[in-house]
Amino acid sequence: MTHIQLEHLTKTYPNTPIPAVDNLSLQVNDGEFVSLLGPSGGGKTTTLRMLAGLIAPDRGTIRFDGQNVTDVAAQDRGVAMVFQNHALFPHMTVAENIAFGLKMRRVDKATRERRVAEMMQLVRLPQLATRRPSELSGGQQQRVALARSLVTNPTVLLLDEPLSSLDAHLRSEMRQLILTVQQELKITTVMVTHDQHDAVIMSDRIALMFDGKLQQIAAPQDFYSRPSNEKVARFFGGINFIPCEPLEADRLKSPFGVLRHRLRYLTMPYGTLTIRPEHVTLAQDLAAPAAENTVAATITNAAYEGAFARYWVQAADVTLELVRRVESDGMLAAGTAVEIHLPPEHLWVMAAGVG
Ligand code: ADP
Repeated sequence: MTHIQLEHLTKTYPNTPIPAVDNLSLQVNDGEFVSLLGPSGGGKTTTLRMLAGLIAPDRGTIRFDGQNVTDVAAQDRGVAMVFQNHALFPHMTVAENIAFGLKMRRVDKATRERRVAEMMQLVRLPQLATRRPSELSGGQQQRVALARSLVTNPTVLLLDEPLSSLDAHLRSEMRQLILTVQQELKITTVMVTHDQHDAVIMSDRIALMFDGKLQQIAAPQDFYSRPSNEKVARFFGGINFIPCEPLEADRLKSPFGVLRHRLRYLTMPYGTLTIRPEHVTLAQDLAAPAAENTVAATITNAAYEGAFARYWVQAADVTLELVRRVESDGMLAAGTAVEIHLPPEHLWVMAAGVG
């Protein structure tokens, strides 16, 4: 088990104007599964390659269990990397592919055979030892790639988009396999993915990167309920955004007048508040009238979704989306004047731009 610390990692490729990775600091705990997530070009692969020792940072430090490994060669870091395209040796059998790393380290034949058998068991790949990669399905090739990377007992597992070449069915099978193996070995794992779904399902924590900069590192659910800024919230499907300025303590200024709120991201300055559509409430649905956070609005659009209706309401030049149970009064028509209530406990306040 290995604890990883990245401190102020920065990398600019030659002849490029801006850093691919910009002052990145984060920690991955012993046995933790962290995904580097974000749009293409965000610096995820560059970060993974620096972790692997395949490229050197311009600045910053990489520590494994407190030891500075920034200048340690890739083969001496105890790191295994699984690539998207498997990169198996076509002329070798499955067993030879898996044993390769051991052979390079001059491990004796008996130990090699035992380890290969263990690895094939681990990745649930029985009876295929003598096949060649071309005789395997995509999922089986991926299993061999995983077994081959783990055979040398690495302390860190790095996965570079391991699922992106697989179809939907295989994808979920491999997702499960990677998780099972990772938990069985309790190996510290960093995965690069641009797929939010994979990251959310698999990770203990997600590090979200835009333009080489870390936006937030947190548990998957925090990206929905506690995003650090508006861009992060939008990446995770957030919809309702209202510009705001801080006033005192739990009050802020908004186009709707003064609103009270309870929740906020820890950094200043605040600039946007967000609320999920299911938390925007019609005042007429409240058990008791609310004295605050209630705003006059007009329904501009309505969509029937079975048990629920989705409404778009306009209030003071801001459009909000809300979801409401379809009650016995049926659908409310566009043009209807309503009052909406924004419960303080569901208003999340965060930075407006990229943090
Ligand atoms: P991601 O994995 O998030 O898609 P990358 O780390 O691959 O991002 O790339 C980050 C930025 O660095 C991009 O702008 C990309 O074009 C640039 N980049 C990546 N590799 C190289 C390279 N070998 N030479 C020059 N620029 C590169």
